[in-house]
Amino acid sequence: GPLIGVLALQGDVREHLAALTAVGAVPTSVRRPDELAAVDGLVIPGGESTTMSKLAVLFGMLEPLRERVRAGMPVYGTCAGLILLAEKILDPRSGQETVGGIDMIVRRNAFGRQNESFEAAVDVAGVGPVDGVFIRAPWVESVGAEVRVLAEHGGHVVAVRQGNALATAFHPELTGDHRLHGFFTEMVRSAG
Ligand code: GLN
Repeated sequence: GPLIGVLALQGDVREHLAALTAVGAVPTSVRRPDELAAVDGLVIPGGESTTMSKLAVLFGMLEPLRERVRAGMPVYGTCAGLILLAEKILDPRSGQETVGGIDMIVRRNAFGRQNESFEAAVDVAGVGPVDGVFIRAPWVESVGAEVRVLAEHGGHVVAVRQGNALATAFHPELTGDHRLHGFFTEMVRSAG
């Protein structure tokens, strides 16, 4: 299978490594530019997007990430990872940078206090209905013309794709259903 990295600066790395193994990819943790250079595709996990962005700067990873994503490396971001793939964040915290790659504006912690964490059925175009696990999840406030909306929940966009970049506001790595990781692995295979 293709060599797929999981950005391992912060967040739920282990769950993504397990899901990628289950769909026949060869997963590996990525912390350094030389590790990033070696992979065929990359998952950016859920966690805390401000912390992840600050660590990316500290580890000298922000520019290498931007370059590889710009060059078309397949990338899949979940939750905080979706935020990292946005061109713009509404109300970013100070010093919060993004990698970009998807022409969208995201709202952090968008579902609000009453709804901090919840599960809901989400119908993802090209994948089918999945159990969406939302944890202080963002939503996508608006998208550019090149972005395909793959799923909505409660009238809000929660899954998108632009070219080789895929993002979900929810966490399929926390369920036993690995179809989204399978879908992403196919994206990596066809890009290779
Ligand atoms: N609220 C987090 C953030 O802004 C994302 C939460 C998550 O990844 N589960 O980064």
